[in-house]
Amino acid sequence: MSFQYEDMKKIDRKTLGKEVPLELFRSIRLIGMYQGLPLNGKSTTATIGRKIGESLPVHSVEGALNLFEELKIGIPRIIEKKDNEFHIAIDECFCKGLPKQPGNKVCDLEGAILEGALEGIIKKRVRAREVKCNVNGDECCEYKVKTYEV
Ligand SMILES: [Zn+2]
Repeated sequence: MSFQYEDMKKIDRKTLGKEVPLELFRSIRLIGMYQGLPLNGKSTTATIGRKIGESLPVHSVEGALNLFEELKIGIPRIIEKKDNEFHIAIDECFCKGLPKQPGNKVCDLEGAILEGALEGIIKKRVRAREVKCNVNGDECCEYKVKTYEV
């Protein structure tokens, strides 16, 4: 079996349409993956996220960030940009409103999606590190994205 990202948009449901509720996405992420996989799914989540990121039909950093918002993962904005590093804040992240659990950051899949998408665009190794998260009690979610020559 091999589906492409474009196949994911071929939806034919008369009554239920194309949306599923955010609580289902959260359940997959935070109950299924986080609690169901060994070591909170750390490496599996990174693998899944990068694979999804690679499959996205985006050709610019801006395009990748726009799609991130279109998919309603969150609204990204670049808050700092240096040569090999940028710093991205995510407003209205999928995790917003969850009960706070200080010491925990839960948006690693979304960071890995960014990694996969950006690697294809800038042709460098990309690593996104979560530095803030709503669940941790921060005012928004944030990633430090570093790029490395391959
Ligand atoms: Zn978040």
